[in-house]
Amino acid sequence: MSLDKTADCLFCRIARKEVPAKVLFEDDRVLAFEDIRPQAPAHVLVIPKAHIASLEDAPAGSEELLGACLVAARRAAREKGVDATGYRVVLNTGPDSGQVVFHVHFHVLGGRRLGWPPG
Ligand code: 5GP
Ligand code: ZN
Repeated sequence: MSLDKTADCLFCRIARKEVPAKVLFEDDRVLAFEDIRPQAPAHVLVIPKAHIASLEDAPAGSEELLGACLVAARRAAREKGVDATGYRVVLNTGPDSGQVVFHVHFHVLGGRRLGWPPG
């Protein structure tokens, strides 16, 4: 059995371009791509290219990387044209949140009025 957690990780595979995705932009640390099942007119996922399973698994010293993801989320909102109308950045973490992909990803949702509190 492989000990490489990134080998079978869907979002690592997207970051390596082994699985196709509609990429918005990327740099050496982060990747922004369209969610395959959009829940709003704008629905982008921002991931760190380095594998981190969830926020709970983020190692010490991740501040800069996680901050880069937030800055990228803001850029994604601007590129999708929802920066002025507003958007929500969501980081599902663990079972009660509904997290299904265990590679940290920030959802950027906008383009419609979003309900609060979330379901
Ligand atoms: P979670 O519930 O883990 O926070 O959200 C996972 C998200 O990943 C979901 O919104 C889902 O639609 C998205 N997703 C799952 N598989 C794929 C895929 O293969 N490609 C893309 N672009 N998004 C995916
Ligand atoms: Zn991964």
